[in-house]
Amino acid sequence: MDWQQLGLKVGLEIHWGLNTEKKLFCSCPNTLINRQADKLIERYLRPAVGELGGIDEAAKAEALKGKKIIYEFFDDANCLVEIDEEPPHSPNKHALESSFLIAEMLNAKIVDEIHVMRKTIIDGSNVSGFQRTMLIAMDGFVKTSFGNVGISSICLEEDSSRIIDSKKNIFRLDRLGMPEVEITTTPDIHTPEQALEAAEKIGMILLSSGKVKTGLGVVRQDVNVSIKDGARTEIKHVQRLNWIPLVIEKEVERQLQLIKKGEKIENSVRVAKEDGSNVFLRPIAGSARMYPETDVMSILVDKKLIEKIKNNLPETIDVKLEKMKKVLPNDVAEQLSKSEKLFLFEKIVSEVKADPTIVASTLVYTLKDIKRKGVDVDSIEDKQFIDLFKMLKDDKIAKEAIPQILEKLNDKKVEDVVSELGLLKITRKELEKIVDDLINENRNKIDKNAYGLIMGLVMKKVRGRIDGSVVDEVVKDKLKNMA
Ligand SMILES: [Zn+2]
Repeated sequence: MDWQQLGLKVGLEIHWGLNTEKKLFCSCPNTLINRQADKLIERYLRPAVGELGGIDEAAKAEALKGKKIIYEFFDDANCLVEIDEEPPHSPNKHALESSFLIAEMLNAKIVDEIHVMRKTIIDGSNVSGFQRTMLIAMDGFVKTSFGNVGISSICLEEDSSRIIDSKKNIFRLDRLGMPEVEITTTPDIHTPEQALEAAEKIGMILLSSGKVKTGLGVVRQDVNVSIKDGARTEIKHVQRLNWIPLVIEKEVERQLQLIKKGEKIENSVRVAKEDGSNVFLRPIAGSARMYPETDVMSILVDKKLIEKIKNNLPETIDVKLEKMKKVLPNDVAEQLSKSEKLFLFEKIVSEVKADPTIVASTLVYTLKDIKRKGVDVDSIEDKQFIDLFKMLKDDKIAKEAIPQILEKLNDKKVEDVVSELGLLKITRKELEKIVDDLINENRNKIDKNAYGLIMGLVMKKVRGRIDGSVVDEVVKDKLKNMA
């Protein structure tokens, strides 16, 4: 398709969770919870006169009158803020600093004063009926090979509660109040490929900041699409980056068909499906319905802090990749640069001083292999990896033992698993003794083809406890000396 002739305009809105310890407006933990709730809290949605006087979206609210919503509450992970019985605390300092850093990395201008705003949300996902959001910076850009893409705004906002049962309107409060950044680009993206590249670039920069969550479900992307003679469509929940080009192409096709039929196209909000097509959700509301959060004081941005952040921007993953290519095989470096284990790799190499190639291939390939076997590799903690590579560095285990240890690790201590599995490394001397004993026990079977037999018996005893090439050397040596 000739995108230029079609007058394609695309804008992106990317939401990404921050990895702070606590939530944005209270001290509850910034982690999801997967167990039965301690309490169920019932609320009813009712329209109320807003602080500015009018009833917002009156008709819609009327339809929701009396709708019962159930919230799953966790005693050790929720507080009165989430259930709107206590005013929000002032915004999490770490979340603010993270968003400043991200804004600087995206070349944006940070505002002088931050005001928390309320955005009306009436689907029940926010107990209060609104989402709190604050503008952090404006007017940034990212470079793409097709030219710069503008970043119109960077906001820091609270996530909503997550839907557990849509028929019964059950929401879980664990996610409510988690901090996330919202990055909005200007609609000056003109091809699907450029949209993908811009999204990848923004993702790369966010990951480079070290301040965002990694893994599944931490990113949400909305794609705005319009063409000349068509309408503006906001496509929500584009869950993967590589869906973006197809989502755009399918939406353009949809609009072109309607134009051909002579039908009028309305601006609308739609939801992306896995095949790249989309379904209607609702018409685009007018300007965002926002009003000030009167329970939180505005915040003057500390210029000195911004200066300090500006002078200490982290290295981007692009740059790290070039450096890694100098010490790692290219494919391992490429894989690692896309892996959420990149920062862990750097930490292990700098703190433990373990061999970069072994660390990288473990984090990239070994984990993938054992995950395929059904091992829950995501629950292995950084500390466990560090302990593991310390043992390798101290020559207490062989690199061959790493997969076995990781497979059996669960929440146990690395040291305990190593002794449980009998994987403590043996010395060359101990190996020689084992080889001598086995040769003696099998003396009557030794002939010129005995290498395979002895090697097999030895490996059965020492697998994972000493480098295979050492075993090979010792067995050959011993057999030669016998002859
Ligand atoms: Zn709380």
